[in-house]
Amino acid sequence: MIFKCSLILLLILSTFLFGQKPMFQEPYSPRIANYEISVKLDPETRKIHGSQILTWRNDSDDYINDLQFHLYLNAFKNELSTFMKESSGRHRGQKLDKEDGWGWIEIESMVLNDQELKSRFEFIQPDDGNPDDQTVLRIPLDQPVKPREVIAINIDFVARLPQVFARTGYKGDFYMVGQWFPKIGVYESAGERYAVEGQWNCHQFHLNSEFFADYGLYEVTITVPENYVVGATGVLINEGQAKVGEKSLTYYCEDVHDFAWTADPNYIVIEDQWRHVKITFLAHPGRDSQIERHIGAAKIALEFFDDWYGPYPYSTLTIVDPRYGAFGAGGMEYPTLITAGSFWMLPNGLRLPELVTIHEFGHNYWYGIMGSNEFEEAWLDEGINTYSELKIIESYYGKEGGSMLSIFGLNLDDTEMQWGSYVYRPKRDAIFNFSWKYGRGGYGSFSYSKPALMMLTLDNYLGEETMKKVMRAYYDRFSFKHPTSKDFINTVNDVSGQDLNWFFDQVLYGTDVLDYKVNSISSREIPQKPLGVFGNPLEESMIEEIEDDSSEKMYSETDSTSEEKTMYLNKVIIAREGEVTFPVEIVIQFEDGEEIWENWDGKDRYIVYEYESEKKVISAQVDPERKIWLDVNFLNNGKTVKANKAATFKYAARWLFWMQNFLHYITIFG
Ligand SMILES: [Zn+2]
Repeated sequence: MIFKCSLILLLILSTFLFGQKPMFQEPYSPRIANYEISVKLDPETRKIHGSQILTWRNDSDDYINDLQFHLYLNAFKNELSTFMKESSGRHRGQKLDKEDGWGWIEIESMVLNDQELKSRFEFIQPDDGNPDDQTVLRIPLDQPVKPREVIAINIDFVARLPQVFARTGYKGDFYMVGQWFPKIGVYESAGERYAVEGQWNCHQFHLNSEFFADYGLYEVTITVPENYVVGATGVLINEGQAKVGEKSLTYYCEDVHDFAWTADPNYIVIEDQWRHVKITFLAHPGRDSQIERHIGAAKIALEFFDDWYGPYPYSTLTIVDPRYGAFGAGGMEYPTLITAGSFWMLPNGLRLPELVTIHEFGHNYWYGIMGSNEFEEAWLDEGINTYSELKIIESYYGKEGGSMLSIFGLNLDDTEMQWGSYVYRPKRDAIFNFSWKYGRGGYGSFSYSKPALMMLTLDNYLGEETMKKVMRAYYDRFSFKHPTSKDFINTVNDVSGQDLNWFFDQVLYGTDVLDYKVNSISSREIPQKPLGVFGNPLEESMIEEIEDDSSEKMYSETDSTSEEKTMYLNKVIIAREGEVTFPVEIVIQFEDGEEIWENWDGKDRYIVYEYESEKKVISAQVDPERKIWLDVNFLNNGKTVKANKAATFKYAARWLFWMQNFLHYITIFG
């Protein structure tokens, strides 16, 4: 293939060889992997034909002897791929069509320095050694890429899109095109993230993991039949006719690490604006009743993220509502483009459409702007994002208005749903784990739910004001830098001024559970005349002295009882049932309504509180304000002298309900 000098290459060369400023703006990111792609959609064959120039910089001091690429679409090539083995062709309740659903990508040509590299291709399987998986391509080089060297690689490829069932593909005339082009892995030098020595970070495509890539510039020209409506990452900078009956649209985006696009002749385009951000909603006919709800939720999310974390640096946000039957493409995030989900027969008051839009938008920060490694530390994306989602839902819709499910009079909010997902199997895994290594079902519980509850617990512990400072500092320090869990913990410690490693060691890296309970309440009458011998029994004067004392009056049965108060020794025992220790508040209530609040460091196995009082204790409650969302059992957090059966039943019923629904629930989002 003839070498084509691209706009992006010129930019990179001018920036790095001649030290000039880039043409557009100060880069937010290091712009290591830059793509200029021309792609044409052929709806007849469901294929895309692409031609790309990748301009890549070795940002390390290493001499790099090979290149590694993700060929994600090969996950759908046959039943032997790692993705298919892990998923059995199912994803979020959707199934692969085994007649006509297969997808793949084939590189026709890869040229570096006028040399065709195709004969050197080898598929590698760094994660599981499955020899049939073709989602990672390695290309050994004769000449290593030198430190700071910029190379340009020309690649021609053909890909066949799968029928939509896992995020990407076609359904009828609808196309959601994600993970679609040969994408270079991330080279990490020694000391970068967890690398001990220089290495490629280029994982296979798994059932339970998303993505990781370097930042750069993308300029992508998409050619489709002229009646198609297109949406894509970035800004539309050019539109023209390609051939008769076709049109070409060019999109451009800076400082992103992926690019996705969608095409469908049936799209209805709704445009809106939030400050500097142009919002485009691509809807399907008949689905319009929820459009305003999606756009409203997107604005709320933009506002919250701007306020809490930092500015959204891009000028566009495109929201795609996949057509009926393409649910598998819904609830997914790409830079500046998210896919939403409208729901059939949705009762008013349930916030699922809002929740999906808010959640997917949030990924533009944790997956997009932070560039968290979703393969290795998915919680930094999904978990922090779910925490953000919980905060938004509660602060904008309130406890009552934020119901996620409502049935038989039970309204479950988002936080309760996350709790239900976690307590179902609280010890199965640690949060800190590679996402394909969680036990079955663990990905949802340990990369979304438990970390969200961990963040909420931390928020309540530090106080919202401090937590907000922590999160903003994390955004300021690590945006566009691929932070790790350690970076997050260091930021928490630094900004809060506390060493919170004890918390993260237990909760992020460990599998132990937290469970405090009220063990017992008792009130024993203190005898008014203590029994036994007092003083020196040999000294009679002592006895007389006492008898002469006013105590005689006190013990007189004939006297008025109004001045003689019965005293009780009240004992409340709080127990730590779980291995995790955490400071807890306890509220003790007396029969006249008086309350005493206690703070316990929660370290021993139990603590006994004693109160001598004229009143009896009637109830005790651990964590009465429910700040500790990691507690795996709320049923034992309170005790009253007369058991409130109705309340117990209510919670038990809700708990059962959570259990039944959480599996369904966690299949909704990406
Ligand atoms: Zn997500």
